[in-house]
Amino acid sequence: MTFQLRPYQKEAVSSVIQHFRNSDDPALVVLPTGAGKSLVISELGRIARGRVLVLAHVKELVEQNHAKYESYELKASIFSAGLGRKEASEQVVFGSIQSVVRNLDQFDDNNFTLLVIDECHRVSLEKTSSYHKVIGHLQALNPGLKILGLTATPYRLGMGWLYQRYLPDDKKGTQRTTEKRFFKSCIYELPLSYMIKNGYLTPATLVDAPVVFYDFSLLSRDRFGRYSEADLNKLLKGKGRATQQIITQVLKESEDRKSVMIFASTVDHAREIMGYLPESESALIIGDTATQDRDNLIQAFKAQKIKYLVNVSVLTTGFDAPHVDLIAILRPTESVSLYQQIVGRGLRLADDKKDCLVMDFAGNRYNLFSPEIGSPKPDSKSVPVTVPCPACGHENSFWGIVDSDGDLVEHYGRRCQGIEEFEGEIVQCDFRYRFKECQECGAENDIAARKCHQCSKALIDPDKKLRDALNLKDCMVLRCSGMTLESDAKGNTSRIKITYYDEDGAAVNEFFRLDTPAQQGAFYHHFGKHALINRAEPFRAKSVDAVISQRKKFRKPDFVVAQKEKHYWSVIDKLFDYEGNYRKAYEAE
Ligand SMILES: [Zn+2]
Ligand SMILES: [Zn+2]
Repeated sequence: MTFQLRPYQKEAVSSVIQHFRNSDDPALVVLPTGAGKSLVISELGRIARGRVLVLAHVKELVEQNHAKYESYELKASIFSAGLGRKEASEQVVFGSIQSVVRNLDQFDDNNFTLLVIDECHRVSLEKTSSYHKVIGHLQALNPGLKILGLTATPYRLGMGWLYQRYLPDDKKGTQRTTEKRFFKSCIYELPLSYMIKNGYLTPATLVDAPVVFYDFSLLSRDRFGRYSEADLNKLLKGKGRATQQIITQVLKESEDRKSVMIFASTVDHAREIMGYLPESESALIIGDTATQDRDNLIQAFKAQKIKYLVNVSVLTTGFDAPHVDLIAILRPTESVSLYQQIVGRGLRLADDKKDCLVMDFAGNRYNLFSPEIGSPKPDSKSVPVTVPCPACGHENSFWGIVDSDGDLVEHYGRRCQGIEEFEGEIVQCDFRYRFKECQECGAENDIAARKCHQCSKALIDPDKKLRDALNLKDCMVLRCSGMTLESDAKGNTSRIKITYYDEDGAAVNEFFRLDTPAQQGAFYHHFGKHALINRAEPFRAKSVDAVISQRKKFRKPDFVVAQKEKHYWSVIDKLFDYEGNYRKAYEAE
């Protein structure tokens, strides 16, 4: 029997062929859980002319991929000690990384042309890792070896994006990171939303108003966006009976449900949760659970002998029990991807399953259809927003804040992420939403840059600017907490009066006239260019009234430096997007 590939599986396969026709760069394909990765692997193995090695990190996956391939009525070898088979004679070999790396002499064949790595988020840049030993060995035999990675989770906390750029068609795409990565390009990515909309996964039904919430938003996070276990435990203990109330609600909602997964914050938290669940129907899996116990518990859960499965950070990926129809989230989810992975545990299709109920008690407010932004959420108010680039038209996904009408109030994007082929090279669009201007040549640089990318001169450190101003007798530094724009009449013309306030209400003013094109240009140069929330939108300051009526489009600076003239203070510098050691003003309400 042969399998019919779904349309997107065909697309994925042809993207791979297309990419390797032109390049030897390792490439990555992202398919959500349930998308049928093993079928894509089978098809690639079937059509490959040379030999193919398919690696996975657990025997279950080796077995599953192999079984799918053989269901095409084709033969393939299995090389996995865990499965009791160490064969490598067929054209296609399915192996476990641990067994293959220990027996490289059995892969002394320069006919291997394709290496497929399943769950490839385990491949690091570490040259001494098992994966790199295998890669190095096969590359030495065949320098033209093609390497394809497959994963459902291309973004992970602490590691960030697994690949540098998303380049689905070789010409245009999105820059994800400029840091080094083993996989340069992701050549095909299927979003979870596609799977749900096309009926390949079950829709999720969100329970809108859980009785009680944990509010993790006030806890501080490390630079990867993670919370500490001690902080979490402290917060959870301080919530009194909240966990008990939450579990009572979960139990009530689960009356008509088959199978429930509960994601707890910490081990202590999970143990408390277990205390409120019916003992005979519940199990707990944590990082320390012995492999054999874990396997037994998962088997019992899949056989529906256990209804409630509580876990702490262990079953977010790779775990697959299709009958799960209630997901209860009692932990903070630090990224959109992680949220999608957790909810994804309940979206597999199963008989008589119409939807999966999702109860989020951590107020994560993520959306299953949101794109991954690639950085920790800056604050609890932020949501993913789409910001088009005025230079290249690329639709950027950034964190941002929207008002009640859904209009953009502010976003945190710095530079357009669009990439395009230019004279045979892939280059990133140069447009910057936030920038630090070079005092020497006027070039726009990233706000964290220390050296100008155009003239290489050192950029003045904002802390030095502030320190210098604070040391000058006739200077004042205003920690700006608020700003107003008004029309101010002077003689028979009007001008714009901008007032900057500090936290105590002290204020300095700045005035701009807009009668001539030169004055309009100066307004843009000294204020608009830096203060416009959305530089992507064209803006002309033609008249005072026009600017005043659009004052919501401007944001305040973080610091204002003013110098004392005879009778007034004159603004000499404004610092936007400040990142440094001085505290910024508390947000004025
Ligand atoms: Zn652009
Ligand atoms: Zn410069």
